Amino acid sequence: MVPPSRSNTIDFDSARLQRLGLGSTCHLPLQVNSLAELRHLLGLQLQTSLEVERILTLFFTGVQRLVPLDALAYLHPVQDVRLELGERASHSASYRLSHEGEYLGELIFRRQKRFSEQELAQLESLLASLLYPLRNALLYRSALQSALRDPLTNAGNRIAMDQALQREVDLARRNLHPLSLLMVDIDHFKSINDSYGHAMGDEVLKAIAQTLKSQLRNIDMVFRYGGEEFLILLSGTSREGAALVGERLRMAAMQMQDKHPELPEVSISLGCASLLPGESADSLLRRADMALYVAKREGRNRLTMAG
Ligand code: GH3
Ligand code: MG
Ligand code: MG
Repeated sequence: MVPPSRSNTIDFDSARLQRLGLGSTCHLPLQVNSLAELRHLLGLQLQTSLEVERILTLFFTGVQRLVPLDALAYLHPVQDVRLELGERASHSASYRLSHEGEYLGELIFRRQKRFSEQELAQLESLLASLLYPLRNALLYRSALQSALRDPLTNAGNRIAMDQALQREVDLARRNLHPLSLLMVDIDHFKSINDSYGHAMGDEVLKAIAQTLKSQLRNIDMVFRYGGEEFLILLSGTSREGAALVGERLRMAAMQMQDKHPELPEVSISLGCASLLPGESADSLLRRADMALYVAKREGRNRLTMAG
């Protein structure tokens, strides 16, 4: 009798024994000629992509040629991956995936109908074909992420910003949605470095990035634009909405000491621009920058809207 939920740890090193025919292989149903054939097919298919989602979709589809499934879920909390394919169902078999001590996430097969021991053995055997494709995809994903992130503040870096800005401008144009941009610059930041040291300056930068993010929606994007400048993309946000957000950010920066009493007082200046019909990403950026320049010139700790 198989319990409705089953949780196992699968180490790919022992899974490899099965692939080599040393594990418990079993009698096969007829949809696919053999387990070995499906493993071979999966082996070829799964190396065609470096994307976690694509690989798991191929795996989910492939496995069903032998073992009917209703859903496949994959979780990797460390890399912040959460994927659900198919429909939720009551019976499940979960596997904690690892290879040579390296954690590769949790995989959960779900089905309305109970899994037989034979099917579970087949699933475990097929998991072996996921080993290298999944590990490579996770490596690729984390390399991509670190290439797009500023290590000090964890905000997006310039490369990420250029990509996102162009993408958001294209989307806003196509869907006739508003798009606004906030350019943020810490006031008199040089004197913070000079008075308290560079390390304290770094702490202020981290805290500001954190404060900005905490005030924004999940879909809003924060990028470190330069030394002590940040750029915020507010998709679907009109000029009026962006003005409210900008003002909220300015207040939050002023109140940052409540949460970080160890840091000196800081303020920020902001320039805001909203996409005009037919406007390019460069022009939008330039107008936000000019608005920021005006905010500085007019005394700092303020938000200026581009004309
Ligand atoms: P303003 O109000 O006009 O913006 O004055 P400011 O002093 O903030 O501007 P300025 O451009 O003169 O100085 C920016 C300073 O930011 C100079 C630079 O040393 C410092 N900076 C840039 N990147 C970093 C960093 O990663 N860490 C630290 N601690 N300081 C940085
Ligand atoms: Mg600056
Ligand atoms: Mg500054």
